[in-house]
Amino acid sequence: LLSVNGISKAFGGNQVLKSVTFDLQKGEILGLLGPNGSGKSTLLNAISGFTAVDSGTVTVGDKRIDKMPPHKIISAGIARTFQLPAMPAKMTVMEVVMTAGTRHHGLWDGLLSLPSGRQAEKEDHQKASGLLETLLLTKVRDLPAAALSGGQKKLLGIACALMGDPAILMLDEPMAGVHPNLRQELAETLKTLSRTGISLIIIEHDMHFIKSLCERCIVLDRGHIVASCHPDELSKNQDVVDAYLGRGSRA
Ligand code: ATP
Ligand code: MG
Repeated sequence: LLSVNGISKAFGGNQVLKSVTFDLQKGEILGLLGPNGSGKSTLLNAISGFTAVDSGTVTVGDKRIDKMPPHKIISAGIARTFQLPAMPAKMTVMEVVMTAGTRHHGLWDGLLSLPSGRQAEKEDHQKASGLLETLLLTKVRDLPAAALSGGQKKLLGIACALMGDPAILMLDEPMAGVHPNLRQELAETLKTLSRTGISLIIIEHDMHFIKSLCERCIVLDRGHIVASCHPDELSKNQDVVDAYLGRGSRA
């Protein structure tokens, strides 16, 4: 479904991604691991159009997306969340989710002849309410989004991403700051999404979470992919062990 082919990116003299290549299948949950600073968020930024790559290509189906701006990539069906979500100061949680929906209707109107006007708004409202319920944000729906806790902002980011019915959802450390009781529920929600055919890429440091969700994960170390395997195989991979202990030999 998604193909990343040899993408490289440097910031000044700092080569952050070095010819990164991988595929994502429909309905797959792919874990993206690696030490701090190994390039995980940059890889997500590159796929979602927030960072221009120096070389390499990204395709969805047979469509090239690597030169597209972020809003075109969203309308091509790829949504994402951010490691540190920023929320508008003056909008409530419900308004933020509704805006995410409206924006998508705005983009897709005319192409798919989606319902417009009041009908669309009503449907968006129902969908937004359902997502807020799933992500346990119903109680805070009328609070300013900027006033939410860090963990709640992460969950709100996921609700927003899902408003556009993405084919591919990329999550940057969704569990960081989320209460353990809710992690299990969030994991179940993500599994259910994948069963409906959505593909997920999840950046995560929590191995327990990765093992409970992913059939495959890739590991980045200083911009290189050093492993692509089942999570249970990771501890047998010397490159991975070296990366996590900081003993890797790559410059
Ligand atoms: P973490 O687990 O801490 O989130 P990460 O794997 O997501 O780490 P990245 O955020 O991708 O790491 O950063 C990789 C490297 O790229 C870091 O050295 C960072 O300083 C550098 N970098 C990222 N974005 C930029 C930027 N916009 N300008 C300059 N350097 C950047
Ligand atoms: Mg990161």
